[in-house]
Amino acid sequence: MKKFLIAGNWKMHKTTAEAVSFAEEIAAMKLPNAEDVAVLAPFTQLAELGKAFAGTGIKFGAQNVHFEPSGAFTGEISVPMLKEIGVDYCIVGHSERREYFGETDKTVNLKLKALLEADIKPILCVGESLEVREGKGEQTFVASQLVADFEGIPAALLPNVVIAYEPIWAIGTGKTATPDQAEEMCAFIRGVMGGMYDNKTADEMLILYGGSMKPSNAPELLSKPDINGGLIGGASLKAADLAAIALSANEIK
Ligand code: PEP
Repeated sequence: MKKFLIAGNWKMHKTTAEAVSFAEEIAAMKLPNAEDVAVLAPFTQLAELGKAFAGTGIKFGAQNVHFEPSGAFTGEISVPMLKEIGVDYCIVGHSERREYFGETDKTVNLKLKALLEADIKPILCVGESLEVREGKGEQTFVASQLVADFEGIPAALLPNVVIAYEPIWAIGTGKTATPDQAEEMCAFIRGVMGGMYDNKTADEMLILYGGSMKPSNAPELLSKPDINGGLIGGASLKAADLAAIALSANEIK
């Protein structure tokens, strides 16, 4: 049976009241694969989302974290703070954080280590810009991200890491990578992880595609052998759309 994770990245959308109403709507649908669904929400919504999803199987998490456990880092949120709320996942290295907030492979690596130590599952985002793809450098670029991001992380912790391949040119643009392009890179990522660790570990990892996934294109993307789900921005804001994508995954399972 193929393993899936259908993860919604809400970015900077929704008030807490709106988040709770989304949670109630999707919980009421009683998705058969609710445990394969997650919502990554703004910090202020997490405590209420945790309560709203309790007992539903649906997972939740944050979109960023600081790698230090505490300290003089005004405006930041630490791993122990997330742990206290009980989050399942945390996105690390989203291209928007790399581009607008100075995230580097070094900080990504420190965040991965801090989350894994606390038993929170990181969803690590990697992916190339349009310029890199046009220069046919996407595989070299993504491989270099993986090598730097996983430095010093032991194989035993890999089952807790999700990788999301998110080509920057396909995020929020309405431009989706073709299913073949997405599959090619997800398979490549699995191969790189196999080389860095071992094939068995790599075969069991969840590798997602992200970039304008929606109910209409999800079935074809999700049916590709190396794509274990999606990290979904825009289309995750409506419960009906996230649920439709989750149901597509359930049919393929
Ligand atoms: C994302 O933010 O991770 C993303 C993939 O966004 P969208 O689905 O809107 O392209």
